[in-house]
Amino acid sequence: MGCLFCNVLEKKIPADVIYEDEHAVAFRDIRPMAPTHVLVIPRKHIAAIHDLTEEDVATMGRVMLAAKAVAHQEGLEAGGYRLVINDGDAAGQTVHHIHVHVLGGRNLTWPPG
Ligand code: AMP
Ligand code: ZN
Repeated sequence: MGCLFCNVLEKKIPADVIYEDEHAVAFRDIRPMAPTHVLVIPRKHIAAIHDLTEEDVATMGRVMLAAKAVAHQEGLEAGGYRLVINDGDAAGQTVHHIHVHVLGGRNLTWPPG
């Protein structure tokens, strides 16, 4: 089986990809929680935030820039948007390849659930 999002990167499973560059890929979440719900992932497999090392600094910076580009492309800047990274069970992480949720298009409550 392997990693679900590595399979997306390798085009073994289909995804609605809306942005890609040398370091990151973004695609629409299959269970959207907001009018815009996009996942931004590094091309490098990193399972979770708690696995990050100094080696990943540039990669994660690129992921954040990709998230910014997605928000711009989706027209979210004026209204505002939220970036979320779940880490581990208590946060509800279900896919163990780091992904930034880009959520927007509606008012988002705080604190999150
Ligand atoms: P998390 O709970 O933070 O690990 O988020 C995983 C996200 O991946 C959830 O919002 C799922 O809806 C989403 N997801 C799972 N499988 C796919 C897929 N094949 N394509 C797009 N999104 C997916
Ligand atoms: Zn992976």
